[in-house]
Amino acid sequence: MSLLTCKDFLLALNEYLDETEDAALRREVEEHIEECPNCWVVFDTTKKTLQVFKGIQSQDIPEDVHRRLMERIHSRLMERRARAQANDKAGDKDEQERKQ
Ligand SMILES: [Zn+2]
Repeated sequence: MSLLTCKDFLLALNEYLDETEDAALRREVEEHIEECPNCWVVFDTTKKTLQVFKGIQSQDIPEDVHRRLMERIHSRLMERRARAQANDKAGDKDEQERKQ
């Protein structure tokens, strides 16, 4: 028999799905879903929902958003490079002036 009540299970489920390090808690959750079909459904649904949610987050951004982002990064890099070159020249001049 599982020690968890269904209410306890629901409370523990969040931690379980958060990938808790608590081995005892994980085991209790797993034991409960083996014995309790209702909670198994809750567990399964929640887990799948989370996976979909995480999947959406890690999946690639829409193509046009990605392209615009890359363009913006690229133009900012070019801008920075141009400014760095200008600064280099100015810097050299400063240094020479300081040495004199
Ligand atoms: Zn239950």
